[in-house]
Amino acid sequence: MKTVSILGSTGSVGRSTVDLLQHHKEEYRVNVLTAMSNAGLLAEQADALNARKVVIGDVSLFNELSSLLAHTDIEVDAGRAAIIRSAAEPADWIMAAIVGMAGLEPILAAIGQGTCVAIANKEPLVAAGPMVIEAARKSGATLLPVDSEHNAVFQVFEKDNVSAIERIVLTASGGPFRTWSKEQMDAATPEQAVAHPNWSMGAKISVDSATMMNKALEVIEASYLFDMPPEKIDVLVHPQSVIHSMVEYADGSFLAQLGAPDMRTPITNALGWPKRIATSGQKLDLATLKRLDFEALDTKKFPAVDMARACLKAGPASCIVFNAANEIAVQAFLDREIGFSAIIEVVQALLDKTTQPDVSGLAEIIAFDQSVRDDTTDYINHRLSSGRGRVGS
Ligand code: NDP
Ligand code: MG
Repeated sequence: MKTVSILGSTGSVGRSTVDLLQHHKEEYRVNVLTAMSNAGLLAEQADALNARKVVIGDVSLFNELSSLLAHTDIEVDAGRAAIIRSAAEPADWIMAAIVGMAGLEPILAAIGQGTCVAIANKEPLVAAGPMVIEAARKSGATLLPVDSEHNAVFQVFEKDNVSAIERIVLTASGGPFRTWSKEQMDAATPEQAVAHPNWSMGAKISVDSATMMNKALEVIEASYLFDMPPEKIDVLVHPQSVIHSMVEYADGSFLAQLGAPDMRTPITNALGWPKRIATSGQKLDLATLKRLDFEALDTKKFPAVDMARACLKAGPASCIVFNAANEIAVQAFLDREIGFSAIIEVVQALLDKTTQPDVSGLAEIIAFDQSVRDDTTDYINHRLSSGRGRVGS
């Protein structure tokens, strides 16, 4: 029996992973499940999967979680340090599904075991990609991409033919505002931004999909995961989200992975790897679907992907700024402090101020990431005090 842990089990990816494990109960034993504040769901999941241990990030919820699990012998722990420690507890397969940069240290702790780490949590890859890849090389860990595009590329990437790869094509649904005008987007509300046409996801990534920041972060993620320069990574809008990405080879062949827009497919692929196991998710029915559409990305309306390419060229510090400023700006938008279009404006303003400090070590990365978050908050507060409120102009 393989042992598995899920970091961020109560989130959208975490819940899909739990669902899949419930369909494969005989093959996997659950070691650790973690969450930030959803003690009720964490306890329910741990009970249903008979997990060995649960960790909640918010220490004030330790007693509540303990009493919810009092009838079991499931171990309970709390706090950020406990989450990081739990990621290092032996497991054959660990799902990294925390949202944001908060997942970096847990991912490094998981990688330290030298087993399989399934990575959905893209922000640490964007901000610290070279360090994450190097840590995996050192420990011998296998990184299994779970982000649907990267999992698709992973499935069709011919390691023995890398020199014949002309480009990686990441597909993008275009998000909820694909057909909206700039003026309509300026007035978009958080409710409209999180209403993704194809995927059901957490709030942060849903807003990222609406700004196309998600695709931009994915260009950086792909560059590090597959060791490809930004000019070999293209983005193609494909509104149905059925082709999850492609690799184009020198002989003119495109290899693509297709599937229903359901995260349980890439999660199943990562869980079963190198075998293929049954998914608990939806299956694709091409006859019902009938057609697949494609269009070029409108980079004027959605500049984020071009910004990401510029960050990769400028250096790793710019990638940290890109991610950290975005995380703060997205939260400010969800809190109704800034308008939708201001998200990109804020990120660009912070990028414009960036020097390239040394970010080669973990301490430097964490310190620089924090300083960018503080600067972004200051920038947003200044913007608000100068009367530029909700509307993104
Ligand atoms: P959610 O917001 O739905 O879930 C996040 C999870 O992380 C929850 O379990 C949450 O706990 C926990 N968490 C939140 N903040 C912290 C913290 N500071 N420390 C520790 N744990 C924390 O996110 P998603 O599942 O949508 O996304 C997870 C990651 O996967 C993101 O990086 C996203 O970009 C990526 N991804 C997601 C996809 C999707 O379909 N959702 C697709 C591809 C990639 P609690 O519930 O208690 O708050
Ligand atoms: Mg994706």
